[in-house]
Amino acid sequence: MSNQRNDSQVALVAGGAGFLGAHLCRRLLDEGQYVICLDNFLTGSRAAVEPLLANPRFELIEHDVTDPLPENLQPTRIWNLACPASPRHYQRDPIHTWRSCVLGAMHLLELAERCGARFLQASTSEVYGDPREHPQHERYHGNVNPVGLRSCYDEGKRAAETLSADYARVRGVEVKIARIFNTYGPGMASDDGRVVSTFICQALAGEPLTVYGDGGQTRSLCYVDDMIEGLSRLMESTEGFRGPVNLGNTGEFSVLEIAERVRTLASGSTEIVFQPLPPDDPTVRQPDITLAEHHLGWRPQIPFDEGLRKTFEWFAGRQQG
Ligand code: NAD
Ligand code: UDP
Repeated sequence: MSNQRNDSQVALVAGGAGFLGAHLCRRLLDEGQYVICLDNFLTGSRAAVEPLLANPRFELIEHDVTDPLPENLQPTRIWNLACPASPRHYQRDPIHTWRSCVLGAMHLLELAERCGARFLQASTSEVYGDPREHPQHERYHGNVNPVGLRSCYDEGKRAAETLSADYARVRGVEVKIARIFNTYGPGMASDDGRVVSTFICQALAGEPLTVYGDGGQTRSLCYVDDMIEGLSRLMESTEGFRGPVNLGNTGEFSVLEIAERVRTLASGSTEIVFQPLPPDDPTVRQPDITLAEHHLGWRPQIPFDEGLRKTFEWFAGRQQG
């Protein structure tokens, strides 16, 4: 950390080469922070942060958070984003996903304790499972299958929340827990299987849009800039405010509606095909964001149609470039 500035925060972004991580690293650099991006490139890529390497306040370390962390790290802020977020990826090696969620959180929390750093856990709306309460408030404890295909992620993230809360209570670590709802935008990997990027890439390739089940299941989709703003406000929130806090857009759409909107952007020529619904796919999902509104003064600013158009244009631009 030879270029470290004393007048700024030193942010360790675990999972910083992923979709949200790369946006976050850019934002923190813009704020003048020193940023250490730590990533094993499982779903993220060196290319995602390559442009940042020219900045003397940016450092990239290839490392898996399931292994003990490098000893020389001295962060003041720790962002734990290190975990594949797409079902396609987190189900490929479920045991490693579990280890990333739980062992990874433990290693980073230990570092936070040692350095007196703030720690933000990127949790997920998946802690609510297939919810029986709608919309989901932070008080709701969820309906999660502990032994299904999604469990490595859902239960791993729940365990990481538990660890974070216990390190706060028992060891005095200043912890913040963000329950992130589905987020989309420029920078998503085209092949990661998530609904928005998949539909857009299919439409641009002139392929049918693959709707799982009857497409009646819903998701509430947040544009990435709004999410990064929410995460940033949470990290800098009042000392002792731990959450968990829902961060997401309350606009709720069925998967079929999402497909129709992407079709419209692609001039309507693409067809829709129906494929089997994966097991345990949540039927509904919508955040109650009252807590974030009151405590962080945060609410999403980008409506779905605007965010979807920006994302579509970004993918279309990449195709041409
Ligand atoms: P992503 O898959 O694009 O990024 C995850 C990053 O973590 C990648 O760069 C990956 O290489 C890295 N990583 C994975 N396992 C690792 C390990 N063991 N050690 C080091 N690095 C590792 O996902 P994303 O959308 O950027 O999500 C970031 C975080 O936010 C994740 O923790 C995810 O669970 C959470 N989250 C995201 C969403 C969303 O919609 N994007 C929703 C809920 C929660
Ligand atoms: N989905 C779909 N077709 C796809 C990809 C996803 O119908 O090609 C559906 C998926 O079944 C789920 C929703 O879109 O109901 C959101 O899926 P995603 O993987 O983006 O996120 P998650 O299920 O983790 O919320």
